[in-house]
Amino acid sequence: MNGKLIILTLLTCSLQACSQQNSNTMNDTQNQTMPDSAHWRKLTPEEAYVIVNKGTERPGTGKYLYNDVKGIYTCRRCGAPLFTSHDKFQSECGWPSFDDAIDGAVKKIPDPDGERTEIECARCGAHLGHVFTGEHFTNKNTRYCVNSISMDFIPADSVKGNK
Ligand SMILES: [Zn+2]
Repeated sequence: MNGKLIILTLLTCSLQACSQQNSNTMNDTQNQTMPDSAHWRKLTPEEAYVIVNKGTERPGTGKYLYNDVKGIYTCRRCGAPLFTSHDKFQSECGWPSFDDAIDGAVKKIPDPDGERTEIECARCGAHLGHVFTGEHFTNKNTRYCVNSISMDFIPADSVKGNK
C-alpha cells in the first residue's frame, strides 16, 4: 500500500475524531452553563406578584417584620444570602428594615417612579423592595425596606445544628 495513502487515511480519521471531540466538549460546556433560572424556586402567585411583578406586600403583614431571631435572610427565589439579623432594626414602617446588606448581594436601581431606589437580588434580579437614605433611623442612615415574601430566613441555630 502507498505510504502516503496510509498517512492520509490516518490523518482523516484523527481529524474526524477531533471534530467529534469538539462537539462533545461544546455540549458539556452548554450543560455547565445552564442558566441559573433552572435552580430557581417555583413561586406561588403571591410571591410572583412581588418578586417578578415588583409588587408590594401589605404593610404590617410580612412574616419577618418582627422576627428578631439571629440568622440570615436569603432570596426567596434563588437562595442568595441578602441580609443578616445583625443589620435588622424596627423602623415601624410596616416592612422588615435593614440598615445594611451583605456585600454585593443587593443591586440598587432607580425606580420607574423617578423618586425611589428599587432593590433587587444581585444574583437573580428578584424584586426585594426599596432603599431609603437620610431618615436617621440608625447610624448608617439607610433603610432597606424589604418585603418578607421576597425572602427566606435561616436561623443561626439551624446552621450550627448542621455541623
Ligand atoms: Zn435571588
